[in-house]
Amino acid sequence: MNAIGVDVGGTKIAAAVVSSEGEILNEVRYPTQAVPPNRLVETIARAVTEVKDGYAVGGVCLAVPGLILAAENKVVFSPNLHEIEDIRLDEEMGRRTGLSVTVENDANAAAWGEFRFGAGKDVDHLVFITLGTGVGGGVITHGVLLRGSQGSGGELGHVTIDPAGPRCGCGNHGCLEALASGTAIERRAREVASELPNSALGRLAIQRRVLGEDVTRLAQEGDEAALQVLQETGMWLGIGLAGFVNVFNPEVIAVGGGASRAGEFVLGPARKEVQLRARSPSRDLVQIQEASLGPESGVLGAAALARGEDGEYVLGPSKRVT
Ligand SMILES: [Zn+2]
Repeated sequence: MNAIGVDVGGTKIAAAVVSSEGEILNEVRYPTQAVPPNRLVETIARAVTEVKDGYAVGGVCLAVPGLILAAENKVVFSPNLHEIEDIRLDEEMGRRTGLSVTVENDANAAAWGEFRFGAGKDVDHLVFITLGTGVGGGVITHGVLLRGSQGSGGELGHVTIDPAGPRCGCGNHGCLEALASGTAIERRAREVASELPNSALGRLAIQRRVLGEDVTRLAQEGDEAALQVLQETGMWLGIGLAGFVNVFNPEVIAVGGGASRAGEFVLGPARKEVQLRARSPSRDLVQIQEASLGPESGVLGAAALARGEDGEYVLGPSKRVT
């Protein structure tokens, strides 16, 4: 049986029919901005109905950014998607689509996608972290997604790394998100550009706003200032990962999101920090690598988290049933 995964993002709604092997059989995308604010639920339901298009489907899972209560299939807070807050989405969407519907945090869904079909497909213990505008994460231990008591666990981006650090979007200071996200790279790039005005980064910053991808490109060209920004980002990331290595003893840490395109410029210093700070034997086992599914991890993971009427995962509980 197939399942439908829906990635409900601030820029697009992507719905996909996914087979039990993780193959996308059909996909539809709607730009979120084109949806009138009071039509979001209706549009998600339409995307599900449209993508189903004759396929046998056992259930649907919506991956939503923000704070969710998985047990109640409710979104508590989702910036840019306020219309779907505090609604029983299983009931509302179930009524409109005639399918069994559940809700998951988008980073947890992406983590599950990497676990089932990507960088974690051969392991039972995975930490996934996504470095985008913010930092999201998910933890799989013994083949089970760590949700915590309310389904809002796995918020790896808001672990405090430096209490005196820059302010985070959540209101705290020095969260991993405030130090190692794409946004943090851009902020630090502005600071280093003004400290080193004669560097390529410094010269670019005088002309226009520097983006994360500019920093990666300049680092590839050997610019010292850009290399410094990514080295520092990797160091902060590594401090966070060292803690996760100690707590979860994962086999693989998969790093995804836009900022992961900086690749070894960030992952190299992160690995070094993990070696310095994490405990043996966990630090000796863990492989820190780039995530492999890219932006499709959201729909794939959501589909793999869809549950049927009986409450069981439609695509199976795990790749290793013990
Ligand atoms: Zn935070």
